[in-house]
Amino acid sequence: MAAQLARVRWGAVFAAAQKGPRVSCRRWAGASADNVYDVVVSGGGLVGAAMACALGHDIHFCDKKILLLEAGPKKVLEKLPETYSNRVSSISPGSATLLSSFGAWDHICNMRYRAFRRMQVWDACSEALIMFDKDNLDDMGYIVENDVIMHALTKQLEAVSDQVTVLYKSKAVSYTWPYPFSMADSSPWVHITLGDGRTLQTKLLIGADGHNSGVRQAAGIRNVSWNYDQSAVVATLHLSEATENNVAWQRFLPSGPIALLPWSDVNHTDFIDSAGSMLQSAVAFLKPTRVSARQLPPSVARVDAKSRVLFPLGLGHAAEYVRPRLALIGDAAHRVHPLAGQGVNMGFGDISTLLHHLSTAAFNGKDLGSMSHLTSYETDRQRHNTALLAATDLLKRLYSTRATPVVLLRTWGLQATNAVSPLKEQIMAFASK
Ligand SMILES: Cc1cc2nc3c(=O)[nH]c(=O)nc-3n(C[C@H](O)[C@H](O)[C@H](O)COP(=O)(O)OP(=O)(O)OC[C@H]3O[C@@H](n4cnc5c(N)ncnc54)[C@H](O)[C@@H]3O)c2cc1C
Repeated sequence: MAAQLARVRWGAVFAAAQKGPRVSCRRWAGASADNVYDVVVSGGGLVGAAMACALGHDIHFCDKKILLLEAGPKKVLEKLPETYSNRVSSISPGSATLLSSFGAWDHICNMRYRAFRRMQVWDACSEALIMFDKDNLDDMGYIVENDVIMHALTKQLEAVSDQVTVLYKSKAVSYTWPYPFSMADSSPWVHITLGDGRTLQTKLLIGADGHNSGVRQAAGIRNVSWNYDQSAVVATLHLSEATENNVAWQRFLPSGPIALLPWSDVNHTDFIDSAGSMLQSAVAFLKPTRVSARQLPPSVARVDAKSRVLFPLGLGHAAEYVRPRLALIGDAAHRVHPLAGQGVNMGFGDISTLLHHLSTAAFNGKDLGSMSHLTSYETDRQRHNTALLAATDLLKRLYSTRATPVVLLRTWGLQATNAVSPLKEQIMAFASK
């Protein structure tokens, strides 16, 4: 059965985010041979490229040698295409903060993205709905094209080319770990062989090579996984009428969720937003109610030619995220159904946590591949990621049935959640990370 996940063209204006201060420093005189790196990130997708950027911009890594390996070609947009890409991601405020910390968000702001401030989720089998609302002018998230994020990351990688070497069209074909794993602190480094026969060594290998991770498989880490009997269909849609253009819509059908994400701009200004928000506050003061009214989504006029693409969906979770001299991040560690728009956000969350632990280790002169801090990363992230994976999988199953008792249960659940503001706020806070 097909899940229908549709993206709507509908706009983009945003204030530039702050770029963190860059402190320059000199390379450590003891940096070793050409093929030896302090950190190798294998896989330069959104998560691997952001990890290499974050390390390259970290002050405590300024004397380190970092390598990013990417099997595919370099991706820069010479010019922003007029047509919108059909691959977009809903980016949480927490992820935007991470991207700002090393300057990538500035590039995104200068290119194209759309902020949204409201989200309506409802059930096709009942009248139940939940409305997430930001009653101030805070953004709930941002819709950004994957190509734009990748362009921003590539630009910021170029800005730290002294620290970070990037090898495009370079596939890692084998990894050899120090043996046995338990002797990490006294063991040799990880050896990596590339498709062209070159060999490299590193103190710490970060596996960011996607849900079929070769790093995870080579390390023999068990991956709990299953395929859903669904594929995601993405497409760029054109609306038949002008709308408020800052709402994300999602409706749960038994065949899978259908989402409509705001995109290009339609008659929209910050002044109108502020005025609308003031009116909303006034109405809420005169008529206080915790239950939001149903709104109707805009109607669709047509689908952009050739914008329809299909993605098979599944769930995956690595039993371990770390081993001595190894850390997994992004889809290599966890693959999630896109109904909550959390996959890449979870990967960016991994980066923030891993960066924090590695930066502290580097500051204290510790071995980057040591389990003492890698385990802290694993504990922090597994706590967050397993909760999200379980909740997403439960939602997917709960909404795949028309059975009356289940429909009744989820109707009450949705209505109750919608009525209890603190609960909704907690859900929003969790999803914003
Ligand atoms: C339809 C759909 C909609 C989605 N929407 C959202 C959303 O709204 N919000 C959200 O947060 N997430 C969303 N996601 C999830 C998100 O796209 C993924 O979680 C994210 O792209 C994973 O990034 P990654 O870098 O971990 O892995 P990947 O994107 O898979 O990147 C892995 C990279 O590793 C490289 N590689 C692989 N093997 C090797 C090797 N041996 N040597 C060198 N390089 C290698 C590959 O070339 C690739 O570039 C969505 C997913 C789908 C399918």
